[in-house]
Amino acid sequence: MELEYNLDFAKSLDAKDTLKHFKEQFYIPYIGDKASIYFLGNSLGLQPKTAQNEVLNVMENWANYGVEGFFIGDEPWLNYHKEITPIISKIVGAQPQEVVTMNHLTVNLHLLMMSFYKPTKTRYKIICESKAFPSDQYTFQSQVKMHGLNIDDCIIEVTPKEGEEIIKLEDIIDTIEKHNDSIALVCFSGVNYYTGQVFDIKKITAAAHKTGAYAGFDLAHAAGNIALQLHNWNVDFACWCNYKYLNSGPGAIAGAFVHQNNLQNKKLKRLEGWWGNDITNRFKMEKTFTAPATAEAWQMSTAPMMLLAAHKASLNIFEEAGFENLITKSKLLSQYLFFALTEINTCNKFTILTPLNHQERGSQVSISVHKNAKSIFDELIKNGIFADWREPNVIRVAAVPLYNSFEDIYYFVSILQHLLSHN
Ligand SMILES: *Cc1c(COP(=O)(O)O)cnc(C)c1O
Repeated sequence: MELEYNLDFAKSLDAKDTLKHFKEQFYIPYIGDKASIYFLGNSLGLQPKTAQNEVLNVMENWANYGVEGFFIGDEPWLNYHKEITPIISKIVGAQPQEVVTMNHLTVNLHLLMMSFYKPTKTRYKIICESKAFPSDQYTFQSQVKMHGLNIDDCIIEVTPKEGEEIIKLEDIIDTIEKHNDSIALVCFSGVNYYTGQVFDIKKITAAAHKTGAYAGFDLAHAAGNIALQLHNWNVDFACWCNYKYLNSGPGAIAGAFVHQNNLQNKKLKRLEGWWGNDITNRFKMEKTFTAPATAEAWQMSTAPMMLLAAHKASLNIFEEAGFENLITKSKLLSQYLFFALTEINTCNKFTILTPLNHQERGSQVSISVHKNAKSIFDELIKNGIFADWREPNVIRVAAVPLYNSFEDIYYFVSILQHLLSHN
């Protein structure tokens, strides 16, 4: 399709968009007295209008039934996850038994590393991206320290080439091949939070497996944003948060994936708690832990029902819209955003850090502004646009298919164009 950078063309794309009515299912924050253009779905997704009722329903069942709410009422809490698991499994490309909804992201990364990072005298290295999200860096470092090992020996970061922002796949593969059988774990993000670069999970996993290492991924910026095939790609484990693209609220309950191959591996150790005990034994209060043949074996504590309720409200919208349809729209949105940005950048006032190739990016586009970046960012907010600021000069925007439109993109880019011409 021949794209055009003007309001009429943006409106014509919206007219053809079969998902545009989904915006009405979300509360859109205001800036001043005007509904904003919310480009922060990569940071905290918006609240579905159904979420409050779902949470209230749990509260009412608690009021009416007390602890019996686990077993009775319109939605007994003990079965609650059965509605959630099939939907989230489809979104991350997993089989339902491979997915569990629990805890928070960093906690889950630690728990999964307890199982999958088992350094030995000869195999102890973690291969990861440079400038991973800080929480992931702290996780890797503290795991290494817990094993009494040295951070510099164990954590090997793959960096972009000199003067570049994007990490080349060949450099990741080369590093894995170079460190070979000294690697215990290869752990990358699915989408880098800063640049928006999508990593080739399938190829990175295959390279890790060739050396005999496990491959795990932090999908915070990938889940609900890009198409994933965790099962088919043979990923060993993954974890993600649900408050970014998955709109499940601040501090939402998070997700974890353990591949079927590892579920059958009786040698794999994990930290255990009563909620991970097989449901048939859980309430017998016996000494023996019976692991179910699912990722639920990693659960430790009683499921937080209010958090699950908000998560369910959001997942039902994904189900209704169809995740493949959302991906199709998302690709067109980011293509249009790239196109419009390129149209206004004739004087080279900014650089787009995110890869142009559509297979290497999701919704997010990161823009490095060469002059007066912070004041331009502040002006964007005054003009009703929620974007995200990262030091020293990067503005991140994500146009998400559930509540952003092509017209949103046109307005954003035209305002940016105006601001750049005055700076
Ligand atoms: C958002 C994000 C986190 C945040 O972790 P929480 O435990 O949910 O606070 C961690 N890692 C990455 C890669 C993220 O993008």
